[in-house]
Amino acid sequence: MSEMKVCVNCKRSEEKTPLLVLTFKGEENFICAQCLPVLIHKMHVLADKFPGIELPQNAGQ
Ligand SMILES: [Zn+2]
Repeated sequence: MSEMKVCVNCKRSEEKTPLLVLTFKGEENFICAQCLPVLIHKMHVLADKFPGIELPQNAGQ
């Protein structure tokens, strides 16, 4: 069963939106351009998708 490439945040597939490749701990994930700002500015939102991710300490603004 081949794994479909979907955005880790919004679950849209590469059929619907261009996906960017993320690598974390040797695993490949994908994120779309619309969700990239979420990863950059609200990384905690995606923390459950990336167990062990190190969050910025002063991200509470
Ligand atoms: Zn997305």
